[in-house]
Amino acid sequence: MTKIGKPARFGARFSKITGAVATYIMTLTLLTLTLTMASNAQATTEVNIYSYRQPYLIEPLLKEFTADTGIKTNIIFAKKGLIERMNAEGRNSPADILLTTDIGRLTGAKSKGITAALDDAAINAEIPASYRDAEGHWFGLTRRGRIVFASRDRVSDNSISYEDLADPKWRGRICVRSAHHVYNIALIASMIAHHGEAQAEKWLRGLKENLARKPSGNDRAQIKGVYSGECDLAIGNTYYMAKMQLNEKKPEQKKWAASVKLLFPNAENRGTHVNISGMALAKHAPNRESAVKLMRFLSGDKAQKIYASVNHEYPVRDNVPLSKLIASWGDLKADTLALGDIAKYRKLASELVDKVGFNSGPNS
Ligand code: FE
Repeated sequence: MTKIGKPARFGARFSKITGAVATYIMTLTLLTLTLTMASNAQATTEVNIYSYRQPYLIEPLLKEFTADTGIKTNIIFAKKGLIERMNAEGRNSPADILLTTDIGRLTGAKSKGITAALDDAAINAEIPASYRDAEGHWFGLTRRGRIVFASRDRVSDNSISYEDLADPKWRGRICVRSAHHVYNIALIASMIAHHGEAQAEKWLRGLKENLARKPSGNDRAQIKGVYSGECDLAIGNTYYMAKMQLNEKKPEQKKWAASVKLLFPNAENRGTHVNISGMALAKHAPNRESAVKLMRFLSGDKAQKIYASVNHEYPVRDNVPLSKLIASWGDLKADTLALGDIAKYRKLASELVDKVGFNSGPNS
C-alpha cells in the first residue's frame, strides 16, 4: 500500500506561514499529490482511496486485498476535507473510493454528487439493505452502537432505553458531548424517525434538563466524567470501551473503563441505535473495475472478520463472529430502521438542538 501524503497534517505544518505563501505551497503540494495519484492510476491494477478512516485501521485489510488480487492500493488519509476535495477535483479526481465513518458523511457525499450508483449482486447479497443506500451510492462496512456507559457503583439499572434518558430520575446525572456532533445528530434523527418531531423535541428537552454539565469534550471525556463522579450515565460509541480497556499509552483510561457497565438502549424493544463506517464508489473513478473488487472484498467474509478484530466495531453482517472483547460486552440488538431513512432527519435534528438550546447545558 502506498500512502500518498497526509493532507491532515498540512494544517499544523503550515499554520505559521501566512497568507498567499501558505496558499501557494498548499496548492502546489496538493497538485503534486493529485498528479502522483493520477499517474499511478493509469494501470488498472491499482485503486485510489480517499480515507477519513485512520490508516492503522484499514492497512491490514488492504494488505490482504493486495495479496488476494494483486491490485495495489494508494491511500490519502485526512481527518477533514476529502469530500470537498473530490468535489473540487471533479472529473479529474484520481479518487476511486471514499472510506468514511458516519451516515451523515456518506449521505453528504451522495448529495454533493461525487458518488456513483452501484448495483452489484455480490455486495447486495452480503450487506443488509438497512445499511445500504436505496440507490446504491454507499454501503456500511462496520457498525457501532451508541450506548449508555453507566456507573457500576451508582447505577443499579441493568437495562435502559433512550426514552428513559429524559426521565426526571436522571436529573443532573447524564454526560454527553455536543449534540451537534455527527454521532448525536444521527441519534436524535433516529428519535425523530421513531417518534415524530414533537415527541423528539420533548425528549431532547428532558435529556437536556438531566445533563450534569454543559456538553463538552469527546465521548471518552463523558465516560471519564462517570469515573470522576461528575455524572452517572454517559452516552458514547461502543468501540471507545475497547480504546480505553486496551490503552497502554494512557493507562489511566483503563480505570475509566472499569468504572462503567455497558447498557445497550432499547435492547428489549426496537433495538439500539447504530451508526456505520462505510464506503462509496467515486463518480469519476478512473479504476472502477478494481474499485468494485475492493468493495466486494471489504464486504466479504475475510475482511469482515478482520474488521471485527482490529477495529473493535461490529461487522455490518450478523453472520460474522465477533471479536472476543466485543462479545464480552453483551449482545448488540440493532435498530432495524434503515440508516438512509434516519439520515433524512439529520437537518431537523440539528434545528431541534438549537431550538431547545441543548448545548447551553441544563437550567439554561
Ligand atoms: Fe469516534
